[in-house]
Amino acid sequence: LVERMRPFTSTIFAEITALATRTGAINLGQGFPDTDGPAAILDAAGAAIHGGLNQYPPGPGMPVLREAIAQHQRRFYGLDVDPDTEVLVTAGATEAIAATILALCEPGDEVITFDPVYDSYAASIALAGAVKRTVTLRWPDFGLDEADLRAAFTARTRVVLVNTPHNPTGKVFDRAELELIGSLALDHDAVVVTDEVYEHQVYDDAVHVPVATLTGLADQTVTVSSAGKTFSVTGWKVGWLHGPAELVAAARAVKQFLTFVSAGPLQPAVATGLGLGDDFYAGLASGLQAKRDLLVDGLRAAGFAVSVPRGTYFVVADAARLGFADGVELCQRLPELVGVAAVPVSVFYDDPKAAPSLVRFAFCKREEVLHDAVERLSRLSS
Ligand code: PMP
Ligand code: GLN
Repeated sequence: LVERMRPFTSTIFAEITALATRTGAINLGQGFPDTDGPAAILDAAGAAIHGGLNQYPPGPGMPVLREAIAQHQRRFYGLDVDPDTEVLVTAGATEAIAATILALCEPGDEVITFDPVYDSYAASIALAGAVKRTVTLRWPDFGLDEADLRAAFTARTRVVLVNTPHNPTGKVFDRAELELIGSLALDHDAVVVTDEVYEHQVYDDAVHVPVATLTGLADQTVTVSSAGKTFSVTGWKVGWLHGPAELVAAARAVKQFLTFVSAGPLQPAVATGLGLGDDFYAGLASGLQAKRDLLVDGLRAAGFAVSVPRGTYFVVADAARLGFADGVELCQRLPELVGVAAVPVSVFYDDPKAAPSLVRFAFCKREEVLHDAVERLSRLSS
């Protein structure tokens, strides 16, 4: 294996899921729902498969899906997106991010990320031979420090890789934070790549602000999202990106040699999903908010300190008060101790000491599963 990929031989999600399977623990580690998405999209996928849509779709994605993505961006955010030149369908958000980084970064170029950071970003940056510069978000509110942000920009900054709502913290970046990031990106002629896969999973009075809606930023932003989270079909791996035509063309040049095209029959099904009514989208958020509350309350009752997430399907909790100073060790032992699996947060920081005792729990599970998990976790303090 080439040296630059050696730090990336396994992922924390694969490790923890294997541990959960081996021990029979409730898996609140890897973030995937334990129920299927809406019947309308499952039926549409079946109809597409039985209707003969089983050969290579067009490179940029099927027109019906590109059109649905453009309409979705207009409906929810008032964005004007040309489905023919400004949209690319990808194999999940993961490929959209990888293709964009590989398309934009020369070796030695710098990419700014916000730690704790989703694990695929560092690997994509390493594949490109680019350099990750990190802005650290700190427990418990994961606020953005302006001085740290300014210090991260240099003459070699090529991309700022934003993620809002943010995995693993559940932070929803507010407009002022995004405007600051955006204006610094514009000053440095950097492209903002914004991973908005949790765009429809925001709670309380939080509002998802797409970076592309900020003044002056549409021409310099690549927006990434995915069907996996919005439609509870993480195994489908249908994602997309949109942005100005020349950036989309650049990402497409790379994508065509990573995977060529993405799963054909699932594309019209995702288009069906994007067209679902407001009830579906409101129900998704309210259902998840109730699950969040259930898990937050349970973690508190079990003795954890909790940072209440305003988006995503993750809660970050501090185990220090329970006597666990090392989150990695706790996550290795938790399945055996009480039959629940979680992910240590320190692995998402360049500096593991930034969060030694933090762990992440996913709440995208059926309520009875969460009740069971909370009951098991309560044994930690008894
Ligand atoms: N970005 C973030 C922030 C994620 O949490 C995930 C995983 N769920 C992805 C990207 C990957 O999405 P996909 O499965 O569509 O590649
Ligand atoms: N995005 C999900 C998570 O953060 C799953 C990621 C994965 O398995 N690669 O848990």
